[in-house]
Amino acid sequence: MKSLSLILALGIFALPLTGCVVNPVTGKSQLSVMSPEQEVAAGAQNYVPAQQSQGGQYTVDPGLTAYVQRVGKKLAAVSDRPDLPYEFVVLNNDVPNAWAMPGGKLAFNRGLLIYLEDEAQLAAVIGHEIVHAAARHGAQQQTRNILMGAGVLLAGIAVAEKSPEYGALGAGALAVGSQAWQAKYGRNDELESDEVGMKYMAKAGYDAQAAVELQEIFVKLSEGRNTGFIEGLFASHPPSQERVAKNRQHATKYPGGVRNKEAYQKAIAQLTKDKKAYENYQKAQKLAGEKKYIDAMAYVDQSIAQQPKENLFWEMKGQLFLQQDKTNEAVTALDRAIQANPGYFKPYVFRGIAYNQLKKNDLAEKDLLTSQRYLPTQIAAYYLGEVSSAKGNRAQAAKYYQQAAEGGGEIGEAAKGKLGKLQ
Ligand SMILES: [Zn+2]
Repeated sequence: MKSLSLILALGIFALPLTGCVVNPVTGKSQLSVMSPEQEVAAGAQNYVPAQQSQGGQYTVDPGLTAYVQRVGKKLAAVSDRPDLPYEFVVLNNDVPNAWAMPGGKLAFNRGLLIYLEDEAQLAAVIGHEIVHAAARHGAQQQTRNILMGAGVLLAGIAVAEKSPEYGALGAGALAVGSQAWQAKYGRNDELESDEVGMKYMAKAGYDAQAAVELQEIFVKLSEGRNTGFIEGLFASHPPSQERVAKNRQHATKYPGGVRNKEAYQKAIAQLTKDKKAYENYQKAQKLAGEKKYIDAMAYVDQSIAQQPKENLFWEMKGQLFLQQDKTNEAVTALDRAIQANPGYFKPYVFRGIAYNQLKKNDLAEKDLLTSQRYLPTQIAAYYLGEVSSAKGNRAQAAKYYQQAAEGGGEIGEAAKGKLGKLQ
């Protein structure tokens, strides 16, 4: 990771040599800090960690992802840069949000899809995000941010001497997500994405009026919601009456087009069916945050009964068992989480911690290393130090504690303490 970010950083210093490029969407010349190739490389390198830190992929209904990909490809094909290596995923995240990374790597949260009514509204979201990628909105400030974070361990999960404390673990893990990658574009970039997005919608045969409705949905969502819930979406795409009005004006240029309401409702049918299960899960999270673990368990059990294929529900059950020192039960629940979605880092971290507590250090090491491959975290580095130490490998333990110490915060301090004891 380090050498790659160094190479990319050197690329930035070489910038003045690459200089001006023509914006593929507007046709105007603009100064760019990155070549299109560097942009694609940065997007590709950061796509998986960004997904991981925001819930991982939604796996309960793979049909939904396939559907979003079909609509996405249709819009990408009529965009100003159809040749970008576009990818579209649905993230297992309650927050209504969507984002685009440089190079055409896009993501749509399950928590946004549930609010949309038809395929044309989905096309409005996708079209908007494709413009961010195609017009290289992220190429300047955002890519620099991504590169700075590329070699850095993600911090933010507090650790206690024995077992991680629930509240810190839950909230901290979410904070990792928002720090890891956040799209932030200027007002003009947003307006350009709205306007050009509608052009792509019309070209792909969709009713551009849906983009007006989308902004109206966003304005509505921004009213009367707690800030934590809306932060993600509205930090990246601030809604306003101005945008609604501008979109309404642009939409008149593109009359007609399809809505495909039935197809969309069919595609999100599983999400609609599981609405209650996710509500119970959110209640469980809130109760766990208040340290009411027994009540939280009752709600998460309801969620599991309603949708046993959702890995997040099993993961939470595992966390709650871990919190109550029921380590064997925690392992069983985390087994189910990993079975449901083997491609998400978090349950590996928790099961690794559980195995470490059970003195099954080979299994612990395997899980923690697997989690690191998906997303390097400070807490996994710390527990890899614990595991190496328990196995008598002091040099390796020192290396891991050193990594964890570099992340700072509570875990950093704990790791420093362990390093001191090793010497
Ligand atoms: Zn935007």
